[in-house]
Amino acid sequence: MHTNSVSIVFDIQKKNFYSLTSLIATIDEDVNLRNLDQIITEDLSSNDIKSLLKKYARIIVAYSFRTSQLEKIYTKMKTFYSALSTDEIHRVTFIAGGSHPTGDPLTTLKFGFDFSFIGEAEYSLPFFLKNFLEKDDIYKTPGIAFLKNETSISSTSRPPPINLDDYLFLSKKRKLYPPLEITRGCAFGCTFCQVPMLFKHRIRHRSAEIIINMVKWMVTKQLNDIRFITPNSFGYLSKSTKSVNQEGIMYLLEGLRSIKGVRSIFYGTFPGEVRPETVSEELITKIKPLIANRRISIGLQSGSNKVLREIRRGHTVEEAVSAIDILLSSGFTPIVDIIIGLPGATEDDEEQTIHVIDNLIQKQAIIRAHVFMPLPGTALESSIYHPISPKIRKKLGRLNSTGKIEGNWNQQELYAKRAWEMMQDMRSVSPLTRGDSL
Ligand code: SF4
Repeated sequence: MHTNSVSIVFDIQKKNFYSLTSLIATIDEDVNLRNLDQIITEDLSSNDIKSLLKKYARIIVAYSFRTSQLEKIYTKMKTFYSALSTDEIHRVTFIAGGSHPTGDPLTTLKFGFDFSFIGEAEYSLPFFLKNFLEKDDIYKTPGIAFLKNETSISSTSRPPPINLDDYLFLSKKRKLYPPLEITRGCAFGCTFCQVPMLFKHRIRHRSAEIIINMVKWMVTKQLNDIRFITPNSFGYLSKSTKSVNQEGIMYLLEGLRSIKGVRSIFYGTFPGEVRPETVSEELITKIKPLIANRRISIGLQSGSNKVLREIRRGHTVEEAVSAIDILLSSGFTPIVDIIIGLPGATEDDEEQTIHVIDNLIQKQAIIRAHVFMPLPGTALESSIYHPISPKIRKKLGRLNSTGKIEGNWNQQELYAKRAWEMMQDMRSVSPLTRGDSL
């Protein structure tokens, strides 16, 4: 039975599960938020909101989304605004966070969200909720944006970066168990990537002791397979961008391996790939007996050195291929990330990429092909989306038939095109407002 008059509803989906779990766990632990009921749903509907409004005086509906989900989220918000009565819609506060709202708060607010959270929200969301409950000034919350008028926003400065050790990465209470986030932030500045924009190059590692202790608890709940989230698995505990803290990685993996009940450790695999310059034969040989995976995900992105320079990858094609060769000779299958359609990539550059892909496939590597999408908040956000050229499409199709290309790049191309068109369209669209509700 619910005793509070305010609730927060998280609409959890596969694509936001990782980012929302830490927030949900943080709210559960916060003694200042005992007067707030937390409700976790999947695919929230207008009828769900109507039912909740029979129990609660006010509800906060929270979303976290990526650019590829724009169309789905906008459709949902339009449905909410049209299906809820004037009284109902005025009792709902819509908030959003995650990579798209951080990079493009204006579009987010035009979708009908009242507040767009910028960057990480473990600190700012509880701050907002406490003020909301106490009817204090929620506009003092750090790291939020809200509409000033139809075409411009106001925002508050971001909160300080959190110390990962102070926050949970899973929710014991709600049985939500994403992979373990061991590192947050990245010092590299790949121009297509939103990670630096989300976390402002502030790299933080979770200490091995905290991870080991949490895994000791996990095995008591039959959570015996251990996976990680990090921008670079081999960068764990490293002091500088390109260095590797072999001792730190081994301390973590050996510590986990020694826990009775741990069945399989997956390290260097999705969602925690590795950067090429961190791969060495010595490290691979040391970790191999401790981990269960025989695939390692590695980012190459382009087969053209000119493109790699332009996208500020910080490594060459040759360096990446040499890292891939080390993985292959050590008995691992490299899963190599490639992006097709990067801005500035000429047909000749794409041909070079196809050539590299061809060689890697012959060596038994697997390619994970992505289609470039201009993401808000990145250096390439104003790039124009270009469809893949027919010639390159044909060559990719031929390579696809080898079964060595993973990732549905046809589907991704559709998402990329649609999201880009929507971002263009939204520039001239007026925000959804409560005056629009029936
Ligand atoms: S692609 Fe990887 S290395 Fe590059 S900025 Fe993003 S997280 Fe960092």
